[in-house]
Amino acid sequence: MPTYDAPEPNIKSALDRPSGALDRGTRCSPTKWNLIVIWRPGWKLSVIFVNTLATGMASGRAVSPPASEQELRTCAAAALAQAGAADTAISVREAKGLQQLAERLREVFAAIRDRRHADAAGALNALLVQSGARPQLWRGPEGSWQLHYHASDAGAAQSWTAGCAAGLAHLLTSPQASRLGICAAPRCELVFIDTSRNGSRRFCSTACQSRVKASAHRARQVQRPAVAAGANRPAGRVAGLRG
Ligand SMILES: [Zn+2]
Repeated sequence: MPTYDAPEPNIKSALDRPSGALDRGTRCSPTKWNLIVIWRPGWKLSVIFVNTLATGMASGRAVSPPASEQELRTCAAAALAQAGAADTAISVREAKGLQQLAERLREVFAAIRDRRHADAAGALNALLVQSGARPQLWRGPEGSWQLHYHASDAGAAQSWTAGCAAGLAHLLTSPQASRLGICAAPRCELVFIDTSRNGSRRFCSTACQSRVKASAHRARQVQRPAVAAGANRPAGRVAGLRG
């Protein structure tokens, strides 16, 4: 039976913690928490699973998929550690289940980014049914009550599928649905939850934002001499118009 620590009570501290992709040299670190919402642990877990297990490009660099079952288990264990799981030992079968979950969660992120909310709802409904999600209260380690969405004897993949799907389902039905994002920088597929004040975040990190700014600056530098050359060209010298 998978067990994990009590959900983070503070979304800022949870989201400021580096995601799984950080282990590969990238950063996803929201700088401010100004969003007034009820914290749903499934959001953070979904970001971790997608960025760790279903990302081909991160901050301009290719991310190789796990090359072996052992490597997949290692990646899945790293994701569970990031998610705060007390027990990160995981079988190959369960690791494959988490990888499939991550790939399907990525589809949800993409659907919400593209405003295909019906597709997002359909994908989440399928995950809720597949995992047999059912809300129930458990006592946490310190005696406080916690809301979980899986049976006590569920395996890791089923448990996390239920938790993530339920978390994102709550988000989709709230005014904050658009807060799920995918980095807009070229060669980056990292996902994030936008915690900015006005919901205008476009990049997974300041590194990707700087990369895009530098690229735009270089493009302007290239265009400037061409524009200047056009301005200095004598009037009337248009091919085919001179007699
Ligand atoms: Zn990025």
